[in-house]
Amino acid sequence: MSKSKIIILLGFGSILLLGTLLITIGVSHLNKSKSSLDHIVNSNNLKIQLINKMYQSARERTVSLFRMIILDDPDEFEKSLEKMHLNGGKFMLAWEKFIALDLSQVEKKMFAEQAAISAIVGPLHNKIADLVNFGDLEQAQQILVEQAEPLQDKVLEILIQLQKYQRTETQQAIEDNSNNYKEIVTIMWVVSSIVILICFGIIFFTLRLISKNEAKQERYQEDIERQAFYDHLTGLPNRRLLNGQIKKAINMSKQNELLMAVLFIDCDRFKPINDSLGHVIGDNLLVSIANRLKENVRSSDTVCRVSGDEFAIVLENIKHITVIDKIAQGILNSIAAPHILEGHKVFTTVSIGVTVYPLNDKNINGLLTSADIAMYHAKQNGGNQYEYFNSEMNKHTKQKLTLEQDLHEALTNNELQLYYQPQNQIDTKRTITGAEVLLRWNHPKKGMIPPHDFIGIAEESGLIVSIGEWVLISACKQIQQWQRQGLSKISISVNLSPKQFAHSNLLTAVKNALDESGIEASQLVLEITESTAMGSIENSIETLHQLKSLGVNISIDDFGTGYSSLSYLQTMPIDNLKIDRSFIKKLHRSEKDKAFVQAIVTMAHTLGMKVIAEGVEVEEQFLFLQDISCEIAQGFLFSKPVPAEELEKMLW
Ligand code: C2E
Ligand code: MG
Ligand code: MG
Repeated sequence: MSKSKIIILLGFGSILLLGTLLITIGVSHLNKSKSSLDHIVNSNNLKIQLINKMYQSARERTVSLFRMIILDDPDEFEKSLEKMHLNGGKFMLAWEKFIALDLSQVEKKMFAEQAAISAIVGPLHNKIADLVNFGDLEQAQQILVEQAEPLQDKVLEILIQLQKYQRTETQQAIEDNSNNYKEIVTIMWVVSSIVILICFGIIFFTLRLISKNEAKQERYQEDIERQAFYDHLTGLPNRRLLNGQIKKAINMSKQNELLMAVLFIDCDRFKPINDSLGHVIGDNLLVSIANRLKENVRSSDTVCRVSGDEFAIVLENIKHITVIDKIAQGILNSIAAPHILEGHKVFTTVSIGVTVYPLNDKNINGLLTSADIAMYHAKQNGGNQYEYFNSEMNKHTKQKLTLEQDLHEALTNNELQLYYQPQNQIDTKRTITGAEVLLRWNHPKKGMIPPHDFIGIAEESGLIVSIGEWVLISACKQIQQWQRQGLSKISISVNLSPKQFAHSNLLTAVKNALDESGIEASQLVLEITESTAMGSIENSIETLHQLKSLGVNISIDDFGTGYSSLSYLQTMPIDNLKIDRSFIKKLHRSEKDKAFVQAIVTMAHTLGMKVIAEGVEVEEQFLFLQDISCEIAQGFLFSKPVPAEELEKMLW
């Protein structure tokens, strides 16, 4: 039982106890006053009776005296004398009883007065009787009428007054008692009403407190449930609830003999946006995506936030696969439209993986895994698209896992090789001034694997850090070796992946490579892509400055594809921009691309940077680049990436 309930119960009990006590006191007061009234009434009645007796016997005594005088007969005299004495006795008996009672001051005074007169009247009566006995009737009558009778009247008068006094006293006692009774009853009424009111109050407040507590408990329970099953940022159900929803949708589709689908959705550019524009805008973007997802599904469908920038949608009761197409395409269009967040116009896209029950899988985990695999494929194919899961994808995922296992041994088994692609000066001599190091994996069973097929895996598994260090040191040692052989001095460009760039050991690794190889720091160029540089701008700027302080050069790779903010580029210590192959490809045919490339070159020169054109394949591209004063060209026009021995030949 809670502390508050105990206090309320105690309070309730005390009030009841107090009420009962007060009522008991009231009732006992009533009883007392009733018995004292009874006592007063009884005693006054007794007094009245005694006064009556005294009054009667006094009258009878006087009557006996008159009879003695008037009848003048010895027999009558004897009878009257006897009666006189008898009444005198009666009077005295009543008188003694009366005096023994509890008398008030007034009564005592009146009674004393009466006694004093009676003391005179008694002997007078005896004297009258004696006179009658001696035959002196005249004298007897005279004394009776003139002396005894008036005194006796006074006695009777006092007795009547006493009687009146008793009556008034009784009346007064009754009235007092009645007033007292009324007062006590009123007090009892008031007390019991207050007690009842307090009790009702306590009951009311207790019930209110209990219901408040219950409501609080319910809210608390709801909060816990919300936290356990709902995402606090978007308010969407979370992964826990997702499983239940899938189960429900499977059962429903079994019942209705319809399809159900799970859509796995991942934001294509969340990390760079979050890193460059800050977490507040990142969070707002997730909320905006969540809202747009909800807008594009039916009320019966469930949208969940699975983690970070991953969402899932459960589509119930699907009659035809075209419903899924419509919803998925609707989501792509809706998300791609600009998101206005805190005054920023933010663009992003999503990749969607779709899995259908019962076509692709029949259990919850299977459906979720296949939707995830399909999403991964959609992303690999460039993002901003949806892909249905198929068994080929599964095969691909398994292959990827095997490849990852093999990659762990590739370094120790010397399966990794470095290829070099020359970078030529854009002038008439077209001298090789540098080379980009491009990694190859000579797999024992699969043969030569291009970097696109394993760099991602290395990045995901973290292997890229040790592989990257190996590339760095091997490349530096290679050009040092060429220098020792007397070959022309060239620079070497090494690609850094996002994970390598963010790794705490990067600076030490670069320093080691320079120290161990003995090449000049200015000969080493580190390539990072635009998105890597724009990832976490503050950190990027700091890392780039640290690298620059070692004396190495920095190139921004694949420039033009990463939505980089030019104003930020300006704040970074960058030496070269490498224009992405996709802009060079149609350079000789597209006026738009010409204008774009020219603009990049002009801008780079303004910022004090050199420009390297990637993927130069034909002479026209080269000539145009020459026209616009682009400094360096790299591409198949000069050479594909080749093993060290082949570049060596070119350098002679
Ligand atoms: P990247 O750094 O942009 O490298 C240039 C890519 O363009 C190379 O592909 C190269 O073979 C290709 N290329 C160069 N000239 C031409 C051309 O005229 N035509 C065509 N069609 N392609 C051309 P590669 O070697 O497959 O490398 C692909 C990507 O893999 C690289 O792009 C780079 O991002 C990554 N990569 C390669 N080696 C490494 C490495 O050691 N570490 C890291 N982190 N990434 C690497
Ligand atoms: Mg590169
Ligand atoms: Mg590139």
